[in-house]
Amino acid sequence: MVKKLAPEAMGRLYNRVYVCKVCSSKIRADPTKVRHGKVKCRSCRSTMLRPKRKPLV
Ligand SMILES: [Zn+2]
Repeated sequence: MVKKLAPEAMGRLYNRVYVCKVCSSKIRADPTKVRHGKVKCRSCRSTMLRPKRKPLV
């Protein structure tokens, strides 16, 4: 069962959260920094990140 999250919880979980395309670990970072390739994955040092997808309600 999927519980509907409060807006502040949604923001905390999905705003500015990125997922590494290589090892799929989550990183919270500034979108402009991610776009300029300044954010690296903590575990594999990759700069290939995608925004975390919000689940469909
Ligand atoms: Zn990684």
